[in-house]
Amino acid sequence: MTRTLAIANQKGGVAKTTTTASVGAALADQDVSVLVVDLDPQGCLTFSLGHDPDQISKSVHDVLIGAEEIADVLLDTDDGVTLLPATIDLAGAEALLLMRPGREYALKRALAEVAQDYDVVLIDCPPSLGVLTLNGLTAADEVVVPLQCETLAHRGVGQLLRTVTEVQQITNPNLKMLGTVATLFDARTTHSRDVLSDVSDRYEMPVLNPPIPRTVRFAEASASGASVMRGRKNKGATAYRELADNLRAYWNGSDLATYEIGEQ
Ligand code: ADP
Ligand code: MG
Repeated sequence: MTRTLAIANQKGGVAKTTTTASVGAALADQDVSVLVVDLDPQGCLTFSLGHDPDQISKSVHDVLIGAEEIADVLLDTDDGVTLLPATIDLAGAEALLLMRPGREYALKRALAEVAQDYDVVLIDCPPSLGVLTLNGLTAADEVVVPLQCETLAHRGVGQLLRTVTEVQQITNPNLKMLGTVATLFDARTTHSRDVLSDVSDRYEMPVLNPPIPRTVRFAEASASGASVMRGRKNKGATAYRELADNLRAYWNGSDLATYEIGEQ
């Protein structure tokens, strides 16, 4: 059975794309077959997996509007994951899809054609709650919410959870909210833990284990188009490997490993 996980938060810069790329690469390292979907017109996931969005002729946009078969658009990557790439064309998909009936189901329908080839599909949602994110949430079995552990991290979480509830009521009753992934976490300060405990109390959301520490290597990697998981070892990559292992164990029937905020 294929597991489809959406990575969503309408706030930008919370490490959705980094989480998608890193968990995907970590799973692929363990011979899990992984498809990652770039749903952001900015194409950051596409770029970080070594493909220049400006040089790509067919993208997820063409798939969503029914102009291309998904199998003809997929790209291989050096990280071992298969990529459904995005280009700036996707910025126009919103308007094109809005006019169609069943517009929330376009990605789900396309993924159904190739799902049997993959154990895991990861969907990197854009920083908005528009029709693209609705497509991501409608196509997914589960959703995680990366949260940057800073003041006001919770702003917008309520709105996102309302969107998830609406999707559960209307297009995808089986969608499951797994919890938050704490990103850019600084274990040395109590501030990160305070923010996390505030958000998880307020919204009753578990925090997946482990939190992902802030690591300078990550910023370097996303700027160069090279995966954070390749090259030198760093604590961010180690944390993402552990997160990927915990997700896999959960998919194989174990309880989901969660982070106890009082720890340390
Ligand atoms: P989003 O997809 O939510 O907009 P990104 O994954 O693009 O967020 O991350 C935003 C920025 O934060 C990027 O420059 C990325 O390299 C950086 N970043 C992500 N995770 C970390 C981390 N653990 N440590 C340091 N920088 C990070
Ligand atoms: Mg992103």
